[in-house]
Amino acid sequence: MGRATRSTNGRGDIPRPSMRARRTAPAVAVEAPLPADGQKVLVVLAHPDDPEYFCGGSVARWAAEGSDVAFCLVTSGDKGADTADVDAPELARRREEEQRAAAKVLGVRTVVFLGRPDGMLEPDLDLRRDIVRAIRRFRPDTVITCDPTTLFSHDKGINHPDHRAVGLATLDAVYPAAGSALFFPDLLGEGLAPHKVLRVYLAGSQSPDTTIDVSLYFERKLQALRCHRSQISDFDELAAEMRRRYLDPAAPPEAPRHIERFRSLEPFD
Ligand SMILES: [Zn+2]
Repeated sequence: MGRATRSTNGRGDIPRPSMRARRTAPAVAVEAPLPADGQKVLVVLAHPDDPEYFCGGSVARWAAEGSDVAFCLVTSGDKGADTADVDAPELARRREEEQRAAAKVLGVRTVVFLGRPDGMLEPDLDLRRDIVRAIRRFRPDTVITCDPTTLFSHDKGINHPDHRAVGLATLDAVYPAAGSALFFPDLLGEGLAPHKVLRVYLAGSQSPDTTIDVSLYFERKLQALRCHRSQISDFDELAAEMRRRYLDPAAPPEAPRHIERFRSLEPFD
């Protein structure tokens, strides 16, 4: 999804190590503690294809190593085109199918769509409640979302407002609402008891502190991205750009590797 291939709803949202991170990266990148076997990981993001861009390699790795990963997409990407003659509901249906196919490639069995309008998200109490509901249903150990403080996505890009809105609403849902019976008592009536998330990984962060080596799973990330055919005009160009972008700048040329980076939070520590 380079500039030539991105639609408006995702343009500029490809996370990559910031220039600051490149300059200060240690010679040996710090590895994150991976979710242990049997852990549950919930990915909450705005648009179909966001999971693949932001964390597809990590998701593939965690799923392969025994974690149960679920996707919660807040919109169905109905503005993922630039022309007015597009049938938005039909585009949304197509993008949901593309997302389910990509999830299957990554080893993700559960995909939930909240059905909110693309491009119009606000981090309001309604969205917070919907995300609390998703957290209490799936009961994850780890939640992955966007870093809502990223206003400029990389050197010259503007981060999509939906990404910021979902990141903020998800943080607000994790702490304190999902873990407290006093928030959204109507959810107790749905049988959804409070649940405390142990760890949050923020994707697309400009201050990442956590590195996941996804070298063994990078081709699977690309294969999953390829499922989003409605959003890609030239997959080969995209794949080449992705291979460059996710290359670990700290790895020696004779031993290249691909990484995804996150900022980690432990909200109840
Ligand atoms: Zn997006």
